[in-house]
Amino acid sequence: MRTLEEAASEAATCTRCRLAGGRTQVVYGVGNTDADLMFIGEGPGYHEDKQGEPFVGAAGQLLNRMLAEIELRREDVYIGNVIKCRPPGNRDPLPDEVEACTPWLVEQISLIQPAIVVTLGNFATRFVLGKPVSIGRVRGERFPWRGRTVIPTYHPAAILRGGGEGSRQFEQLREDFALIRITLEEHEARVKAAADAGTPLVVGDKEQQELF
Ligand code: URA
Repeated sequence: MRTLEEAASEAATCTRCRLAGGRTQVVYGVGNTDADLMFIGEGPGYHEDKQGEPFVGAAGQLLNRMLAEIELRREDVYIGNVIKCRPPGNRDPLPDEVEACTPWLVEQISLIQPAIVVTLGNFATRFVLGKPVSIGRVRGERFPWRGRTVIPTYHPAAILRGGGEGSRQFEQLREDFALIRITLEEHEARVKAAADAGTPLVVGDKEQQELF
């Protein structure tokens, strides 16, 4: 299996779909490559495309704030997107663009092996759960997925569009981050108990571990 750095460097010259023609650069992902917790957004916007890093604009500032509220920094987690290149005018990615980009994300998850995957918004949630769910209905719940736990929550950009601080959704986002913290602590306790018992915990299903 190659390293995340090797995968990122190959992704940097990807031409698997039309988005390659309009991007400034590929936005592969950022953070702790050994993280227990991975966030998945939709795709790069204007600032991300310029800087080559996910969630650096206004939505990213809100994400950073929510992380800080649960005593985490960006460097503690891994942050990626379903789509690695900015669609023109920030339009929604098209199905064939998602399909072309999917192997990058699947490989990324296999290399990082996060125990907990937080999907931000409808797009990433539908992609990961493989169902046309509505984020308002599934947020704040935990779903078992390929030997991991998925926690869907609102996309920070949607919170900003919907009134930001003081709105009901902002408080729900807060609640979801509290659940993320609890889930992380439960996972850490399981890791410790397994190590103490001499049977290290393995996350992720076999299929995904053997993909690459
Ligand atoms: N929105 C996303 O979904 N991803 C980013 O990286 C930035 C904004």
